Amino acid sequence: MRAVTFQAPGEVLVQEVPEPKITHTADAIVAIEASGICGSDLHIYHGRVKIEPGFTLGHEYVGTVIAAGEDVQAVGVGDRVLGCFQTACGKCFFCRRGWFHKCDTSRTFGHGAALGSLPGTQAEQTLVPNADLVLRRLPEGMSDEDFSRKVNEDKSSVQNSCDFLETSGFNAITSETDPKSRMADIEKFTLAFPDSKYQEPVSNYAMYTLGPGQLNDKERLVSFGEKILASNPNSLAALLLLANYYGDDSKPGSGAKAITYSQKAIEVAKPDAADADKSRKLSAGAAHNTIGWVYLKQEKTAASIPELRTAAGLLKGQDDQQYARALYGLGFAYGKLNKLTEAREVLTEAVKIPGPLQGMSQDLLTKVNSARAKGK
Ligand SMILES: [Zn+2]
Ligand SMILES: [Zn+2]
Repeated sequence: MRAVTFQAPGEVLVQEVPEPKITHTADAIVAIEASGICGSDLHIYHGRVKIEPGFTLGHEYVGTVIAAGEDVQAVGVGDRVLGCFQTACGKCFFCRRGWFHKCDTSRTFGHGAALGSLPGTQAEQTLVPNADLVLRRLPEGMSDEDFSRKVNEDKSSVQNSCDFLETSGFNAITSETDPKSRMADIEKFTLAFPDSKYQEPVSNYAMYTLGPGQLNDKERLVSFGEKILASNPNSLAALLLLANYYGDDSKPGSGAKAITYSQKAIEVAKPDAADADKSRKLSAGAAHNTIGWVYLKQEKTAASIPELRTAAGLLKGQDDQQYARALYGLGFAYGKLNKLTEAREVLTEAVKIPGPLQGMSQDLLTKVNSARAKGK
């Protein structure tokens, strides 16, 4: 019979394998009609979970029983069945309490020797041990279309309560004042509603909560940002968070990461598009600012100037502190390149903006002015 087998990371093959045989009185053999491809299969495919080359994949399946051992009672030959992805013994400490998923001798289909050497279900036939526990008969006369219609009906009938819970969960996050509890709520919420319509605001709450003045946990903040990007690679909030973090970090390689995240943020924000709103322009401005400052740190002074100029253009009148940072960076870069007129121009603008960079801009302006005087 034919089966989908794992060969090596990145390589699967449909090949001939021996048909399964009943080896125990509680076994059944199912002729497979449909089998799912699951995220767990991808762990194997990508090489994160190791299994033996040639092993048959798959663990979600529908089919018809074509053979059954003499002790199999719940299903019989000719029954259309749906099966569980793993087997259980039904007798151990855990099984007797109904915790079949923790069974001492549980085996998982399609996961190699490590999980019980049970060949998978992406095959024409599959051996199912302990068939009484593992298989369930499908309702008589129910076609695949009927079944999927029923699943959809069940889903839409609980949709309202699901929406209600999702909104209540989001409201709980926004009204929680203790950062520690808020972060715990956010983690539970993200698990329960992975595709939530509140994903963007919840991510923003998470970053705020893990940020300075709240939990101030940089490592967790970065891993949260990476988690968000894994599910939504275009999350501007996460891109800016990571750009900012790596921009301030002094470890080797951090500058390059900051630039990559910033460039992606600019690509997503599209500040030049006709429909770009204030927040997208601000995001792009912050990203150009980060790139400019990384270049300054790397002593790529000439390259920093166009980035900081673009940043200043986008941030002017929108975010005073970010604007002041771009101007100060520009003043520094021009000064270094001995373009004193340009340096004076931007620093004169920077000293008008109250904030932490005002004094530093004033000092730099004084230096630039005295250099100009000497040059004359
Ligand atoms: Zn699965
Ligand atoms: Zn058990």
